[in-house]
Amino acid sequence: MSETQRKSPSSQEPSSPVPQGERSDGQGTDNKMSKRSSMKQMKKKPEDFLFGKVIGEGSYSTVFLVKEVSTGKEYAMKVLEKRFIIKEHKTEYVHREKEVFAMINHPFFVRMYFTFQDMDRLYFCLSYARRGELFEYLNKMGSFSLEQTRFYTAEIVSALEHLHGKGIIHRDLKPENILFGDNMHIQITDFGSAKIIKREVQNNTNEDSNAGRRRNSFVGTAQYVSPEVLTSKTTYCSSDLWALGCIIYQLLGGLTPFRGRHEYEIFQKIVKVDYAFPEGFDPDARDLVDKLIQLDPTKRIGCEEEGGYGPLKTHSFLKGIKWDDLINQKPPLEPLNKNRDNDNLYKDLKPGYDEMHISQLLCKVEVDDKTDCMHEESFDNMMTEQEHSELIEKQKRENIYHKFVENHLVLKQGLVDKKRGLFSRRRMMLLTEGPHLYYVDPVNMVLKGQIPWSRELRPEAKNFHIFYVHTPKRTYYLDDPDGYALEWVKSIQEVWDRYFGTPKVVKK
Ligand code: ATP
Repeated sequence: MSETQRKSPSSQEPSSPVPQGERSDGQGTDNKMSKRSSMKQMKKKPEDFLFGKVIGEGSYSTVFLVKEVSTGKEYAMKVLEKRFIIKEHKTEYVHREKEVFAMINHPFFVRMYFTFQDMDRLYFCLSYARRGELFEYLNKMGSFSLEQTRFYTAEIVSALEHLHGKGIIHRDLKPENILFGDNMHIQITDFGSAKIIKREVQNNTNEDSNAGRRRNSFVGTAQYVSPEVLTSKTTYCSSDLWALGCIIYQLLGGLTPFRGRHEYEIFQKIVKVDYAFPEGFDPDARDLVDKLIQLDPTKRIGCEEEGGYGPLKTHSFLKGIKWDDLINQKPPLEPLNKNRDNDNLYKDLKPGYDEMHISQLLCKVEVDDKTDCMHEESFDNMMTEQEHSELIEKQKRENIYHKFVENHLVLKQGLVDKKRGLFSRRRMMLLTEGPHLYYVDPVNMVLKGQIPWSRELRPEAKNFHIFYVHTPKRTYYLDDPDGYALEWVKSIQEVWDRYFGTPKVVKK
């Protein structure tokens, strides 16, 4: 019996969510003969790979950076637990994601090379988008320049043209699902929510009846979801064009166009198309966004009814784009993780999905995410406990912001303008013991968030007004209207020294 004829334990499972090992060569699903022969040659198993580290966690999967033993090539291995998929009734999503990956053949999408399974898990072997998510870049940089926005808009348009040409709607287009490959070109991923319309027209699959049953849920992410999905639960290719409009707005402006305290408020604004442009928004970009964020899905630039992709690609904002040559152009964005060296990851590893090793990798993610250890004892002796509690009591009585700081002593506070792209928000910033950097909306008296502390946090003054707080995931742009930026930086640095600086050695 040949290897492909022999039944594996997993292929005997009646509820197996995807077929046993096969290769997606990115050539579509038509060529069955060549596919079968490549299956024979290319059938893979976990033991063919070294599992280096966890690079992402989705709702139903864990994504690992792996190295193929025979070729030394790195891939992103998306691993799904069968039991969990079946329990959560996500079998259909998994099938669809695999099917869509197999249909796509375009450089601006993550590529699926192989799929295989064992008794417990499904494995999707994907191209590794080494440079991270667009979301991280936006977080770090606040917003993109006009040139960067134009270039990446063009890449997303080019990708969507391919996708829609194949009859596929992504339905969850957002900066988290737009990754960057080695050379900073985009690689769109996550087809768990995708819909294949051509197949549905032909086969009238049960997907619509499923959607009917899930009346109160929507597919996508609140900020990018189109009004028709909310009101009639119908998606069109142009629902992705709506999301594109939201993304262009966010790239240039720094925030999404529809914002609110909770999803319901965001949805209310979306169905009313209630959004505004910040001052300084480029007029050509504004015109394009306006033409994409249209209530009527048949009126969005780029949709079939509006003449397809031609008018979108020749819009004045995208003037000068060389559409046939995008992949060969140098993207106007530098990688954030330039020096990331993965060579040491695989040292002394045994190939395969070894439970012990995997749980170590998963623990490592949790530890990495936690705030660094802090040595509080290093400044314990600065004041007595009695003095400390007296100060807290005074703060409770006199400081209206006390309720936001979780009973921590405020070390410095003041109004600053927190900037993000073209937006600016006035906040009361509270630097406290802990350490914490809380920021509160002083008009509505609502805590808006905290700047996360870690050893990597670094304050930097630009001038008397503007200062930055750099954190691993984001740089906060702050403007002290009174011109005390240097004082802020000094105070934050002092607190850093207290908690993270080298503890003093006391000589006896
Ligand atoms: P969701 O909860 O959004 O549905 P999911 O279960 O579909 O997630 P993915 O979005 O595919 O999982 O992957 C989770 C994370 O893993 C991504 O946000 C990304 O950071 C990382 N990731 C996924 N695929 C790749 C890849 N090919 N290269 C690099 N990183 C990846």
